[in-house]
Amino acid sequence: MNNFTYRNPTKILFGKGQIENLATEIPANSKVLMLYGGGSIKKNGIYEQVKTALADFTVLEFGGIPANPEYSVLLDALKIIKEEKIDYLLAVGGGSVIDGTKFLSAAALHEGETPWNILTDKKPITKGLPFATVLTLPATGSEMNSGSVITRAETQEKLAFGGPGMFPVFSILDPEVIKSIPQRQLANGIADAFTHVMEQYMTYPIGALLQDRFAESIMQTLVEVAPAIMKDPTDYQAASNFMWSCTMALNGLIQQGVPGDWAVHMMGHELTAMYGIDHARTLAILAGNHYRYNFETKKEKLAQYAERVWNVTEGSLEDKANAGIEKTDEFFKSLGIDIKLSDYTKDYEGTGSNVAKRFTERGWEGLGEHKSLKPSDAQKIIEMSY
Ligand code: NAP
Ligand code: FE
Repeated sequence: MNNFTYRNPTKILFGKGQIENLATEIPANSKVLMLYGGGSIKKNGIYEQVKTALADFTVLEFGGIPANPEYSVLLDALKIIKEEKIDYLLAVGGGSVIDGTKFLSAAALHEGETPWNILTDKKPITKGLPFATVLTLPATGSEMNSGSVITRAETQEKLAFGGPGMFPVFSILDPEVIKSIPQRQLANGIADAFTHVMEQYMTYPIGALLQDRFAESIMQTLVEVAPAIMKDPTDYQAASNFMWSCTMALNGLIQQGVPGDWAVHMMGHELTAMYGIDHARTLAILAGNHYRYNFETKKEKLAQYAERVWNVTEGSLEDKANAGIEKTDEFFKSLGIDIKLSDYTKDYEGTGSNVAKRFTERGWEGLGEHKSLKPSDAQKIIEMSY
């Protein structure tokens, strides 16, 4: 196992009725900016619950943060934060609203030339305006981690940043919010969380026995609850297990002491930036082929995964590893997710070389756990995924 230092300061309030506790968690006399997305919270009652809980606070609102939080929209919110001297941010939404709020938290205290530097500087962010979240969509883990991904349509970029100052102070996880999530987003949530686990698990064996089993148990739980949650999102038992699995998939616990891959996410972000494909679906397009392409360095873990998560018992190590890849593709398809780029766009020719060019321009010469995946390798993986 590798050395590690682990700290996760985010307080979690989990379960039915927890939204009420906003009033005791946010410091009295705070001037709050409540941030949300395209308006789903106004249809499903979450907006009312939050406003009722915050009746004694001064609350300003900023709605309209789009899926794949857009830089230019966030700059409008930043203006309000500065003009109104906001001192507490509350994200009410999924990963997009939470990631956008993280950016605003950092930008409010940023001293550089332009806030876009937060995305390009590659410096860990150590301080931000305090913020909390009411999670409405289990998927990203952003509610309990310190990472964020921001999109800039003007330049077709989607870049990540983060740092120890970017953890939410607290997050409210009420599984009842899942009731109103459309099928497409439920499937996305399951696929994103599942891939988060794979990115941290599917590397070379490093003898981190406990992290392996944590990771496998999250994947097993997602596989077990997926049919139930897709059939009936009001099933509280399934909803609560789904929600907690998504948080645990990317709150830092399973990544301690192990190498992380994350190449699937890095390539996937480009497909979202270029074609607007949902984040989770870009991962489903690429994951299987990433493992096929890197079979030799990943086959031991792939075989272990096939045995422990999918109960594959027959065949050689290679047979099991291949079966693990097939099972992954089948799992995504069982959620109604198409796994070829050509299912999403007719303009896919040249995508591989375009992404390779972008990676080269940014100096991303080595991705993956060995930092050995070159832009030309990314090109081939993407071409396998047409
Ligand atoms: P999302 O983009 O936040 O939301 C997707 C859609 O679901 C939106 O249209 C939203 O509507 C709707 N929605 C959310 N909650 C709902 C509810 N309870 N009922 C009905 N509709 C609801 O989706 P996401 O998958 O959570 O976030 C994706 C983003 O997170 C991507 O940009 C991705 O790159 C990023 N990401 C971040 C991390 C991280 O660690 N920070 C990890 C992985 C991915 P409204 O707009 O109306 O709310
Ligand atoms: Fe993700």
